[in-house]
This record gives sequence, C-alpha cells and structure tokens, in this order.
Amino acid sequence: MARYTGPACRLCRREGTKLFLKGERCLSGKCSFDRRPTAPGQHGAARKKVEEYGMQLREKQKTKRYYGVLEKQFKSYYVKADKMEGITGENLLSLLERRLDNVVYRMGMAESRTDARQLVLHGHFTLNGKKVTIPSIQIKVGDVITVKETSRASEKIKGLMEGLDGRIFPKWLDVDKKNVQAKVIALPKREDIEFPFEEQLIVELYSK
Ligand code: SF4
Repeated sequence: MARYTGPACRLCRREGTKLFLKGERCLSGKCSFDRRPTAPGQHGAARKKVEEYGMQLREKQKTKRYYGVLEKQFKSYYVKADKMEGITGENLLSLLERRLDNVVYRMGMAESRTDARQLVLHGHFTLNGKKVTIPSIQIKVGDVITVKETSRASEKIKGLMEGLDGRIFPKWLDVDKKNVQAKVIALPKREDIEFPFEEQLIVELYSK
C-alpha cells in the first residue's frame, strides 16, 4: 500500500498552512510551520504570485495531504463524488472524511491520521465486531468502531484513552469513552469539516 514517507512538516510549508500531520507537535512550540512559514527550498520565501491553475493545484495537493491520500486514490474519490447526487466538492470531502483512518482520528484514538492509519493496519480496531486492517474502508451510518479488547493494555492506547476526557467529537460520531467505541450516527456533511478547504477549486481543476 503506497504512502508518502517524506517529512510531514515540509508538506505544511509547501501548502502554506498547518495540516496537523504530527499530532501533539502541531500544537506545540515545536511546529516547523509556526517557526518558518515559508515554502521549502532555496527560493521558498520568494515564491509569491500564484495563477488560477496553481491555486487549484495547491488546493488539491493540500486536501490530499491533509487526509494522507495519494494521487491515484484521490482521483478515484473525485470520480465517485462526481457520480453522486449533490455538490461534487462536498461529496468529495465527505468521502475522505468517511475513511476509517479519519474516523479513528476523529474519535480521538490516534494522534494524527498517519498514526490512525498505522493503528488500523496493526489491527487495533474492530468494525461492527470484526477485526479490520484497511484504513481506507468507507464507514456508513450505524457502523461501530471499537478499540480491540486486547489492544487496550498497550501503553499507547492507554495514553490515547486518557486523552478522551474533555475532547470535542464531531456531531456525526457518538463516542462511548468507557467502551472506547464510536457509532456513526450520520454521514459527515460539509459544515462538519472545520478545515477551510476550497473544494470548488479541486472540482475546477479536474473539470478542465
Ligand atoms: Fe505541520 Fe504539524 Fe509539522 Fe506543524 S508540526 S509543520 S502543523 S505537521
């Protein structure tokens, strides 16, 4: 399964915004983007004017990187979103938001989406009672995602469980902290996604 393995902070600097790819570090004084918010490379600080195509491209790259998805898979989400009823850009974001690794992150059981992906791959979760190891699985209304009983003894999972108190969850997820599980009570809508995506730019890019 292909994935980006380069430095995460470089992606934030390239996209000119914090993508929150490294959990706690993103909120600390160690965030590279906070310290140096210019594009990477020798002439990073000098890059300024971005044309229409460039803006569309950057929005696509930013969205892809935020969710940790590579080009081919991202395009397949777009094709699917375009065939669905409703607004293509919003459908696209909803499909990305419905990935299991994103749901694990949203339920507070991972520090970042990359972390969530690893935890899912290592079999720490069940989906409707069955072990699941595919981070890209699309969740649907009624699905229940649970941390496996045997995984709850691990120091990492214990630390994440402790962090659930005081956490704000998306309203489409009903999180049961005691049983470390989340039930999908609705599909995520555009207004549930707080990151300021300009998804229309992605639609324009792919519509050319
Ligand atoms: Fe981006 Fe987080 Fe790195 Fe900051 S610490 S640059 S938000 S990945």
